[in-house]
Amino acid sequence: MHKVIVSSYFSAGHFLSDEPIHGHNYGIRVILKSELENGMVEDFRIIQRHLDDFCKTLDHYLLIPGQNKEVKIDNVNKQLHVKAWERTYVLPASDVVILPVENTTAELLAKYAHAKLKEKMRKVVSVQIDESPNCTGEYSE
Ligand SMILES: [Zn+2]
Repeated sequence: MHKVIVSSYFSAGHFLSDEPIHGHNYGIRVILKSELENGMVEDFRIIQRHLDDFCKTLDHYLLIPGQNKEVKIDNVNKQLHVKAWERTYVLPASDVVILPVENTTAELLAKYAHAKLKEKMRKVVSVQIDESPNCTGEYSE
């Protein structure tokens, strides 16, 4: 079996139970695995396009964990009132992406990205998300 790895990046804000709102320049790598067809696992240009399209859905947004029981979200005239643990944020809905995750950790962002990229490319086996140059979360099948 062969693997190919394609990288991209996005910048986004998030918060966790014990961290205030802050941002990261996330790195992301998608790994595809298969036998070769015409000497390739997949055309790099196709992988890059799908990965970049995915990154655009998160780039320059605040990421909210929509499945966290401690995070309550009310949409009032396109303003999100987000109660998260002891904090309350009022944010324009257009600046936020509510993700189907319990927390916006690198590990769970990698699992989310894996599911979204797998919809586009069946050969996807793994996604890695760098929260910083030294810290990476990975989800793989
Ligand atoms: Zn963080």
